[in-house]
Amino acid sequence: MRQKQQQVRQVKPGEKVTIAGAGPAGLSAAILLARAGVRVEVHEAKKEVGFRFQQDLQGLENWTSREDILDWMHEQGLATDFNKLAGCEGTVFDYREQAYHVSSQRPFFYMVERGPGEGSLDTALLQQAIELGVEVIFNSRLSQIDGPGILAIGPRAADAIAVGYHFKTDMADGFWVICDNQLAPEGYAYLLVMNGKGTVKSCMFTDFKHEQRYVERTVAAFEKLAGLQMIEPVPHGGAGNFVLPSVAVHGSRPLIGEQAGFQDTLWGFGMRYAMASGIFAARSLLGEVEYDELWKKAFHDQMQAGLVNRALYARMGNRGYRWVLKKLAQSQDPLQALQRHYQLNGWRRLLIPWARRHFQTKRRDRSCNHVDCGCVWCRCGETEA
Ligand SMILES: Cc1cc2nc3c(=O)[nH]c(=O)nc-3n(C[C@H](O)[C@H](O)[C@H](O)COP(=O)(O)OP(=O)(O)OC[C@H]3O[C@@H](n4cnc5c(N)ncnc54)[C@H](O)[C@@H]3O)c2cc1C
Repeated sequence: MRQKQQQVRQVKPGEKVTIAGAGPAGLSAAILLARAGVRVEVHEAKKEVGFRFQQDLQGLENWTSREDILDWMHEQGLATDFNKLAGCEGTVFDYREQAYHVSSQRPFFYMVERGPGEGSLDTALLQQAIELGVEVIFNSRLSQIDGPGILAIGPRAADAIAVGYHFKTDMADGFWVICDNQLAPEGYAYLLVMNGKGTVKSCMFTDFKHEQRYVERTVAAFEKLAGLQMIEPVPHGGAGNFVLPSVAVHGSRPLIGEQAGFQDTLWGFGMRYAMASGIFAARSLLGEVEYDELWKKAFHDQMQAGLVNRALYARMGNRGYRWVLKKLAQSQDPLQALQRHYQLNGWRRLLIPWARRHFQTKRRDRSCNHVDCGCVWCRCGETEA
């Protein structure tokens, strides 16, 4: 059933806006509101910004839009003075260990650091928010908001997990990906290196129960194929949540970022959606346009295309990934080819009902043993609770 569009409670002059969550979504909203002269209070449950990421390297994707993500951030008035590396070329392997070199003049993504460290994306946004007069209160987990506010508290459940290590390294900067279900079921394994720091992860969409097995295989594969060298490796992992909501307003408050389920369902890139939805929510509180209208116009079609892509990818298997990689590597402009994947063309539109059904069944991970489930990520534990 189609849900009725809900109105966002707008902010009146002199009123305070409360934002729960100091991730990229919450901080982007705070920055825009503060710049418009609004009094903003951000409550963060953890003791520091980006706590769940701690030095993790991530990719700020640049393929879902023709506009460069850094130009877009600049236009929105968001800080871009964090450490970054333009990911213009890298190597992707298939399950037979065949390497495909992919390159593009425009970066596929910008590698950035997450967490509370100096030069991270989170620190840059936090710093900017504070300079604009936003009050950020750490160790403050909100259970309710009074007055106008925004919910930006990150994922609600695990639809995908990325597990592995971050580490120091002498390796040269670069990125490597392996598409092999033996390493990352229905997902991909990746290795990112920037400025002497690295991240190696298995990003899996099913069979979470055997995460450790996949991590071991992933590390061994990158040692062999990319010369992975880890100094002082620290285990790290996290969950991602994908939902395609019909409305993203709860009560009269916008849900933004992963709290709304905004993320690329195909591969789990959420930072761009988080910042964009933060900006849209702030604009709606300022009375410019309705929030649901804004985000739907910007990325509803794209997210539906991502959902279809995910359902297809999950069915493809290793041979299918190999075929896609060959096509991508042969393409004259792989970035543009990726961009086309996110367009909701005729046949993708037709596949939406099928993809929705497929994704719903996947959200109940049947590979998990529900009787003696002890895994951290499992959704059945959540249901029992
Ligand atoms: C291992 C891993 C790798 C990833 N790699 C990439 C990548 O390469 N590229 C990409 O684009 N995306 C990536 N993602 C996804 C991306 O990190 C998220 O989509 C993005 O951080 C979402 O931003 P957010 O602001 O919505 O939520 P978050 O960044 O999760 O921030 C939410 C904040 O709210 C706080 N909070 C929670 N509950 C409360 C409460 N009740 N009160 C107050 N505060 C609260 C949390 O502590 C947290 O700081 C990755 C995710 C994981 C787990």
